[in-house]
Amino acid sequence: MKKKIEQAINDQIQAEFQSAYQYLAMSARFEEMNLKGFAHWLKVQWEEETAHAMKFYTFMLQRDGHVELQTLKKPEVTFETPLEAFEQVLRHEQHITERIHRLYDLAAKERDYPLQTLLNWFVDEQVEEEESAREIIDHLKLIGDSNSHLFLLDRELARRPGGGEAEAA
Ligand code: MG
Repeated sequence: MKKKIEQAINDQIQAEFQSAYQYLAMSARFEEMNLKGFAHWLKVQWEEETAHAMKFYTFMLQRDGHVELQTLKKPEVTFETPLEAFEQVLRHEQHITERIHRLYDLAAKERDYPLQTLLNWFVDEQVEEEESAREIIDHLKLIGDSNSHLFLLDRELARRPGGGEAEAA
């Protein structure tokens, strides 16, 4: 495996774990706001991001690459409202999409075909990630200041499959 590719994948492993860490911090904030459905949705997102990191991790080891885990930053939780939170999620996912596309460019340039195949999955996944964030933003905009509708959306988000402990509770 080329050093350049190896470095780029290690950076992407870090970015996916950083996403997971960010969403977990946001989930905790929603718990404090008593919006347990939002908290659950973000906790499932934390699991998904961890799974993304592990896909790159496994790929690297399969290809005899050297995994070097990097430092994670302290997550900044700055939102005041659910709408702000999901606008941040969307912006973050758009940034991740950009990274995946750049990685794809590198894989194409270096003629790394297995990496391109792996990245095809991620390209599709990012379309879904952006779509689900946008859908929640649209709902929140319709809801406006209505607490009763926010409560209903919270109940709907609580039904997202996954979440381990959150689901068992
Ligand atoms: Mg991801």
